[in-house]
Amino acid sequence: MSITFLLGMRALFAQELSLAITLLIASTIFAVSQQLQVRFKSAKARTASITLLISCLMVLTLLLLITGGKDNTGPLWIYLVPPVTMFFAGFKRGLLALLAYTVVSAVILFALGDVLLLTNYTYAFKTRLLYSFLTVSFLSAFYEYSRQKSYDTALHLKEQFERQANHDHLTKLLNRRGAQQCLEREYARLQRNKTSFSIAIADIDRFKSINDTLGHEQGDEVLKQISNLFTSRIRGQDILARWGGEEFMFIFPETNEAEALKALELIRKKLNTTPLHINDVEMHVSSSFGVCEVNLTNTVAFAIKQADKALYHAKDTGRNKVSAFSSLENQS
Ligand code: GH3
Ligand code: MG
Ligand code: MG
Repeated sequence: MSITFLLGMRALFAQELSLAITLLIASTIFAVSQQLQVRFKSAKARTASITLLISCLMVLTLLLLITGGKDNTGPLWIYLVPPVTMFFAGFKRGLLALLAYTVVSAVILFALGDVLLLTNYTYAFKTRLLYSFLTVSFLSAFYEYSRQKSYDTALHLKEQFERQANHDHLTKLLNRRGAQQCLEREYARLQRNKTSFSIAIADIDRFKSINDTLGHEQGDEVLKQISNLFTSRIRGQDILARWGGEEFMFIFPETNEAEALKALELIRKKLNTTPLHINDVEMHVSSSFGVCEVNLTNTVAFAIKQADKALYHAKDTGRNKVSAFSSLENQS
């Protein structure tokens, strides 16, 4: 934009009117293209801006090729086309645009030169111009291709790391960090929709003795099987996370405490009646659950504390049961 403006003004003062007008029009189009990108952030505006920029640059450099520009230096500017096109249009679209540009330039220089060219170039100049242009195009395309490949790799690694940071390696469930993010999302939804959701913390009963009798590795296997069983018993919209060692967090969106209690009671019973198979040996495990509703009158942190209290109440009163925060309140 600045260069075409300066050269345009220079041509104006040198009274090269047609060159001045061409350059100033190009400068204006570059300015419009830039403003399109700055003011409108949409994908459509970006495409329009890029199309405008590249077509304008291509037409301008072709005109410089045809007219010769200042003392036949016009063709020098065609080397701007490959890097700019690749940079803005990306590898595939850039390659197609450059291919079209090369064909048009070759036709102007060789096939229709006598009719179209307003200046004279030697045959050697024209061929060397085309070869060097193709070389720069190839290098720009290669550079853009490598850049896009490394960008894709970085993006893939980022997604992989994010996934690892939010998930538990053993059970493949969300970990505590992932659960916290879900809780924040649910709380934001609650504030929008005013519909409460429920959370529950489950702690496997007497897990230490399972570890002691079977060993830590088999204890891990028990945790995996329990997480599979829990996962198979929740609805699609519900979330299960590994909250800690042998503690799980359930998040039931748009569910009040009574409904969550009902769902957890079924899950508890299912765990009771489903034998786990560890080392070809059948074994039964149970879990205690503490539930609390999150609504507009409390917070997630408060509900987690209350679910924990309810869980300890379930443990204290015999284990293998679901206990709700509201029932503790009623008792006290
Ligand atoms: P309670 O019914 O009171 O919950 O009894 P508990 O034995 O389950 O007691 P507690 O919850 O305090 O103990 C949890 C045990 O779980 C202690 C720890 O060794 C074990 N544990 C925690 N994380 C893991 C794990 O990733 N793998 C295995 N195998 N064991 C774990
Ligand atoms: Mg525990
Ligand atoms: Mg336990």
